[in-house]
Amino acid sequence: MAAISAATNWHPISPPLNFVDTPASELFACNVFSTNEMKTRLPKQVYKSLMKTIKSGEKLDPTIADAVASAMKDWAISKGATHYAHVFYPLTGLTAEKHDSFLAPDGEGGAMTEFSGAQLIQGEPDGSSFPSGGIRATFEARGYTIWDVTSPAYILENPNGTTLCIPTAFVSWTGEALDKKTPVLRSMQALNQQAQRILKLFGQTDGAFVASTAGPEQEYFLVDRHFYFSRPDLFTCGRSLFGAKPPKGQEFEDHYFGAIPERVLAFMLETERELYKLGVPIKTRHNEVAPGQYEIAPVFESANLATDHQQLIMITLKRVAEKYGMACLTHEKPFAGINGSGKHVNWSLGSSSQGNLLDPGATPHSNAQFLVFCAAVIRAVHKYQGLLRAVVASAGNDHRLGANEAPPAIISIFLGDQLTDVFEQIKKGGAKASLSKGMLTVGVDVLPPLPKDAGDRNRTSPFAFTGNRFEFRAVGANQSIAGPLVAMNTIVCESLDWCATKLEKATGGDASKLNAAVQSLLSEIITESEKIIFNGDGYSKEWHEEAAKRGLLNLKTAADSLPVLGEKPIHELFTKYNVLSERELHSRLHIYLEQYVKTVHTEAAQTLEMARTLIFPAAIRYQNELASTCANLKLVGYEFDTDTLDKITELVKCLQDSIGTLDKTLSHGGGSLDAEVTHYCEDVLPAMAGVRKYADELEGWVADDLWPLPTYQEMLFIK
Ligand code: ADP
Ligand code: MG
Repeated sequence: MAAISAATNWHPISPPLNFVDTPASELFACNVFSTNEMKTRLPKQVYKSLMKTIKSGEKLDPTIADAVASAMKDWAISKGATHYAHVFYPLTGLTAEKHDSFLAPDGEGGAMTEFSGAQLIQGEPDGSSFPSGGIRATFEARGYTIWDVTSPAYILENPNGTTLCIPTAFVSWTGEALDKKTPVLRSMQALNQQAQRILKLFGQTDGAFVASTAGPEQEYFLVDRHFYFSRPDLFTCGRSLFGAKPPKGQEFEDHYFGAIPERVLAFMLETERELYKLGVPIKTRHNEVAPGQYEIAPVFESANLATDHQQLIMITLKRVAEKYGMACLTHEKPFAGINGSGKHVNWSLGSSSQGNLLDPGATPHSNAQFLVFCAAVIRAVHKYQGLLRAVVASAGNDHRLGANEAPPAIISIFLGDQLTDVFEQIKKGGAKASLSKGMLTVGVDVLPPLPKDAGDRNRTSPFAFTGNRFEFRAVGANQSIAGPLVAMNTIVCESLDWCATKLEKATGGDASKLNAAVQSLLSEIITESEKIIFNGDGYSKEWHEEAAKRGLLNLKTAADSLPVLGEKPIHELFTKYNVLSERELHSRLHIYLEQYVKTVHTEAAQTLEMARTLIFPAAIRYQNELASTCANLKLVGYEFDTDTLDKITELVKCLQDSIGTLDKTLSHGGGSLDAEVTHYCEDVLPAMAGVRKYADELEGWVADDLWPLPTYQEMLFIK
């Protein structure tokens, strides 16, 4: 009750923002040590050298570090910075930072500001508590942060001062990656090398760096903080472990793209404003399908930068929500029975000279090139479907994948009718390969100019071609996009390598043979990989049956799919392209399995505690009330119908039993990590569901004033 009145009486705590005095365009990137800022502040040679590294992926010249550090420091201090921080991305999926002051003693009792090239390039946080999956024993816990020049430094504001933040990679003293960023950078480099080979075959030899690009759409829920803090499950686990379905859910679909509530819009405006300052190109906002659910999406950027920016988006959403009296939930399934939250990762690859390589061009020549890149993706997704499933696996995402609103756990590709038809014809050999006026016309006669955003959109596919990019929809709202991007980059890199080798061999350097070579390559790929293409309804039962017939993987849970990371072909893939070593892969698998166990364990312990100390007491109080009413009425000669009392008594008994079962299941455990994972997935989760079943049923019977938790209705609809 108190929470409801507090929630409905919410008032803004700070004056409204003013976009008239400072237009958004002026704010954009004002807190970023941007290319422009570097150009004005750095000596010309230093600037040029730095740009070569940033734009073309050339090796960083360490001798320029001092000059860059000095300019960066002056800029940061002019923005009020007192400290600098190496920001890194440990395997928890979160963002970590260690702050150091610019101040150093001057030896004469005073202080001066100091920031050297060495301090810019390398830091040594005592990161011994971050998960390393056995790579570092704590006695040799040294981990280093290394400046990533390709992701610009920025200023993080706080009312009491500002901090210069420097994005870094985090590696062990033996040079092994302990973070999410390092493999992103390595996979981008590997992808570029193989893409260049294909481009060369098509006569494109300018060598402009081919980068993978990413545009992540983030879904989230907003809940008033008064409710949030009255729900121990929400603030410890990020999702509700109890809660009956409200009388009105999302059936009416009246929330989707509806008018945005005023408090929420105010929150969005401030979130976007903060992100603009950090140079994050936020573009889209709207209501999502579920009540209380929203989406934010930036314009796509190079994969590495998009990953860093995506971390900033999640942090900023949560920080600003607090200011508006709300909690931002990025869990994949905060409310059972209500749509979950995903993070659709739009992915493509391109270069400054070629543009987007997954954009079907207007000319035959670029169409042939497009078809090779597109086919390489199809082959990769087919060959590595298990890996793509594994990189989106988490305890949280298990509640979403395969449920009714999310893509199924079966990985397939939606290509759209037009493109599917083109590949069909190529497969039949009817691609009318011919040379006319020295122009390549592989399959082009059958490839109509594809409009961007081809009309047929499919929302049920986990991996959809959307006109000029692929959209990986199975990614969970709470996940770092690094894992999925590393997987995409590396499997497509392997596929391009395979294609290039075939084409190089078939042509032997003779461009006139390219036409036929491409034709046979495409037809081979499509024959082998077409099983992965599915344009129908991914939610339907028929698809599950059909997919099984096609022999596609259906790895339902994280417990089923994480072990893929330990398979030999996956190790061969990542080691071949130097994206992850054997040891790095092992450590990652170990950490993700451990995270799974810890997550489910925490949820189970929280379930027990809430069931015992909140729900059970409420139920017996009500039971007692009914029983004494019954007894009192009898005393004065009335008959009391005990139906309700009987029902409550039965449910209380069931609740008590299910609590006992969960308790036993939880104390059972033990054994190897693999055994633990199976135990938590197959025994603990169902036991939790058992408790929830009776608790949720009780919610429908117990007197409202005795019920100790905010209901779904309150949390989702009161804004
Ligand atoms: P929808 O909700 O219809 O899927 P949105 O407009 O919400 O589309 O998001 C589309 C995302 O795809 C945006 O982040 C956009 O910048 C991104 N995108 C567009 N082109 C590319 C590309 N070439 N590479 C990666 N992402 C892209
Ligand atoms: Mg969208």
